[in-house]
Amino acid sequence: AVQHETHGFQTEVKQLLQLMIHSLYSNKEIFLRELISNAADAADKLRFNALSNDALYENDGHLRVRLSFDKDAGTLTISDNGIGMTKDEVITHLGTIAKSGTAEFFSKLSGDQAKDSQLIGQFGVGFYSAFIVADKVTVRTRKAGEAASEGVEWISEGEGEFAVATIEKATRGTDIILHLRDDEKEFLDDWRLKSIVTKYSDHISIPVETWKEEVPESEGEDGEKIEAVPGEWQTINKATALWSRDKSEISEDEYKEFYKHISHDFGDPLSWSHNKVEGKNEYTSLLYIPAKAPFDLWNRDQAHGLKLYVQRVFIMDDAEQFMPVYLRFVKGLLDSNDLPLNVSREILQDNKVTQAMRQACTKKVLQMLERIAKNDAEKYQGFWSEFGNVLKEGPAEDFANKEKVAGLLRFASTNEDSSAQTVSLADYIERMKEGQDKIYYVTADSYEAAKNSPHLEIFKKKGIEVLLMSDRIDEWLMSHLTEFNEKSFQSITRGALDLGDLEDEESKKAQEEAEQEVAGLTDRIKEALGDKVKDVKFSHRLTDSPACVVADEFGMTTQMKKLMEAAGQ
Ligand code: ADP
Ligand code: MG
Repeated sequence: AVQHETHGFQTEVKQLLQLMIHSLYSNKEIFLRELISNAADAADKLRFNALSNDALYENDGHLRVRLSFDKDAGTLTISDNGIGMTKDEVITHLGTIAKSGTAEFFSKLSGDQAKDSQLIGQFGVGFYSAFIVADKVTVRTRKAGEAASEGVEWISEGEGEFAVATIEKATRGTDIILHLRDDEKEFLDDWRLKSIVTKYSDHISIPVETWKEEVPESEGEDGEKIEAVPGEWQTINKATALWSRDKSEISEDEYKEFYKHISHDFGDPLSWSHNKVEGKNEYTSLLYIPAKAPFDLWNRDQAHGLKLYVQRVFIMDDAEQFMPVYLRFVKGLLDSNDLPLNVSREILQDNKVTQAMRQACTKKVLQMLERIAKNDAEKYQGFWSEFGNVLKEGPAEDFANKEKVAGLLRFASTNEDSSAQTVSLADYIERMKEGQDKIYYVTADSYEAAKNSPHLEIFKKKGIEVLLMSDRIDEWLMSHLTEFNEKSFQSITRGALDLGDLEDEESKKAQEEAEQEVAGLTDRIKEALGDKVKDVKFSHRLTDSPACVVADEFGMTTQMKKLMEAAGQ
């Protein structure tokens, strides 16, 4: 008999299983999508590895996933002939959550089922979703290239632990056997399975097959013999790479389901752009903007980038060379006809083809955003609240597209009585006062602080709009954004405030007189403060407050100082 060893699930897995079973129940059929998605990934990985080692196909190059069921046993089996897993891989992949953002995810859980189910949806459940419908799952797998004796069996009831054993498995790949719960027997039905596959997995590029029973020999009406039709595996999905199909033939739902497959996201994307490019470089790109930020968005080192294919063959995940870091939320794929099949990350690093595709993809994403901003302000606002702060990294990183990115930025401003960032630079410029040639802004620790800054007094009095910035990244952004639409930016807390043509003659004169009245006062204050300040100057920027602290035109602002301190500098 096979000897199983028992392992405990990682605590997070236990928690996830609990949560998932309860909160995803209303959407339970997605388990099949997840398992088929994994099978397709396994086929992709095998094909990639076989590029350098053809023997991995073991004379079976027809990669597919098969669905079969046994009504008597109450089991549904999802069987692939993809890459398979070693014992170590089984233990880590099916016993822990390696996903990035896991800690953030768990820290956000509230115990409120409705809210948490939303979060799980965003986090994604993958393989573990099998337990929504099964009270026991058996996985039998064997890695491509390993001996038949190196098979692995994994069994779990989805509670605290799982058992693993080494077994004989003649065929390469993975069988997932779901022992369905008593009230889930509806999945032991050909039509039900076909309709789920059509709904969620039609776009999968390998065939999804079900067994068509043989038709026994029979006798026709006039007694002639009708020959038996042998049973066979039948493909029930389209089984072509979605991105290689014609745009006009792909439905919105197909695009959405394909997004879920490649992004491992549960939610629908916000928008997408599908392009076939011919000419000097030939490639297809399919780029998606997610609707929700992932849990690891703030980790700049986290895996991101596009899925790379060369002539339909999967090459790698997270090819980050094709997207700038400030667009790291973009998901999607590239299928190149120009890159060699043996392309590596190193080759991509310094490659003309890569650069051209990166530029083009960056442009596509910015265009997509511009289009949303123009056509659907509310939708754009949704995007902005999820990813705005990432986009703000753009002007520092992408010199060539600085102006375009700046056009996509949104700020709070004195024009609105709200902390919501809704004002574009174009809006601001449209509202500029006669004679105003600068875009004024103030940065502070919070919206409240910015809104109540004493520096704003003179602007309020003159009715000049000021952008109110209070995100941590804003200082950094503004140190790289010097102008937009030929209008330069001016911090209202820095250096001498020159309102230029906005200053009328009368008030200039009044200012000079006022300055003479208190002559000598500034010197006395300077003496009293000593080294604590660089200078004490007479200012016209205040109308109600008696004094305020101002940063030097070229020195660091107080905000920037705090940022540097926080970074340990
Ligand atoms: P994800 O697909 O997002 O990585 P899953 O929970 O769906 O997460 O799967 C976890 C991991 O288990 C996969 O990344 C893969 O390494 C492994 N795995 C799951 N199913 C299969 C399979 N059918 N063949 C090979 N590996 C698999
Ligand atoms: Mg998966």
